[in-house]
Amino acid sequence: MTTDTTVFVSGATGFIALHIVNDLLKAGYTVIGSGRSQEKNDGLLKKFNNNPKLSMEIVEDIAAPNAFDEVFKKHGKEIKIVLHTASPFHFETTNFEKDLLTPAVNGTQSILEAIKKYAADTVEKVIVTSSTAALVTPTDMNKEDLVITEESWNKDTWDSCQANAVAAYCGSKKFAEKTAWEFLKENKSSVKFTLSTINPGFVFGPQMFADSLKHGINTSSGIVSELIHSKVGGEFYNYCGPFIDVRDVSKAHLVAIEKPECTGQRLVLSEGLFCCQEIVDILNEEFPQLKGKIATGEPATGPSFLEKNSCKFDNSKTKKLLGFQFYNLKDCIVDTAAQMSEVQNEA
Ligand code: NDP
Repeated sequence: MTTDTTVFVSGATGFIALHIVNDLLKAGYTVIGSGRSQEKNDGLLKKFNNNPKLSMEIVEDIAAPNAFDEVFKKHGKEIKIVLHTASPFHFETTNFEKDLLTPAVNGTQSILEAIKKYAADTVEKVIVTSSTAALVTPTDMNKEDLVITEESWNKDTWDSCQANAVAAYCGSKKFAEKTAWEFLKENKSSVKFTLSTINPGFVFGPQMFADSLKHGINTSSGIVSELIHSKVGGEFYNYCGPFIDVRDVSKAHLVAIEKPECTGQRLVLSEGLFCCQEIVDILNEEFPQLKGKIATGEPATGPSFLEKNSCKFDNSKTKKLLGFQFYNLKDCIVDTAAQMSEVQNEA
């Protein structure tokens, strides 16, 4: 790919996508992003100092039919790469189909349909931001002997994933990813693009712009924030699973654009397993201002907890394909928490 290439990023205002937009601009790409409103789009353009290589389009709701048609009608002949990151990631609903599953699936279907209609000869690569949630059901996550790889699939059905919001979110990532692979299979002769997916575990790491933290927080960063605001002697839910730093997630999207070996691959992003006990240990050890004020749990028991309570991930194939070192948990959490503390002190 030459760097005068134009890349479209859906959901550009999101936690992960802002890092991607920044990395793309730094690498010299021209970027067209989508956000849900003029206000959000103007805010994003301002954050990037109205960089002339960045423009924004409104896609108000990816669940709507033909949501991406206008964008591709207008820009289809310029866009060579599509990064589809937009998807609802929250657990604040009881209407799982309407708020999680349908937007995830329809959004994926409609962006691919729009490419087929208006950019079949121009778009060369599509990279869908999927998740490790597409690889394993939440109920299997605690099976200590289960090993998840790039070939694994979440076993929930459309109905069974609607047991609760977490399962429904995981289902939404599975069905959205399946939609993309199936679309390509069925439309191979009428589109030019290849497909790769990026399947990150829990994503932590600093926000691209610290002041985003003043306007709410994305779901995965909320886990760290809750631990920073925990009470001494208090309890916390020991979430566990694979983790990855947001800066590595962004970098992986760029490598997937640039390395031909990533074509057709599911790239599973995990530096290793984490649990909240390990995050609490890091916060207590590395931040003197938090020590004695936040929960401690049972220090140093993280690794044994994970051994018994989490399935394992083997993403050696992805690590080899990407060929770069991921941030470790300590550096990732220290950078995340330092930014959160700084913003809090400014308030
Ligand atoms: P964010 O919530 O920060 O970003 C999601 C983006 O999608 C936002 O721009 C959001 O817009 C947009 N979006 C959501 N629903 C709609 C909709 N119905 N119509 C239009 N736009 C919509 O989350 P992340 O950055 O964390 O997630 C980005 C992607 O990465 C998602 O696909 C997520 O599933 C995936 N992922 C995230 C992980 C994590 O731990 N963070 C782990 C694995 C995968 P707005 O904010 O305006 O609503």
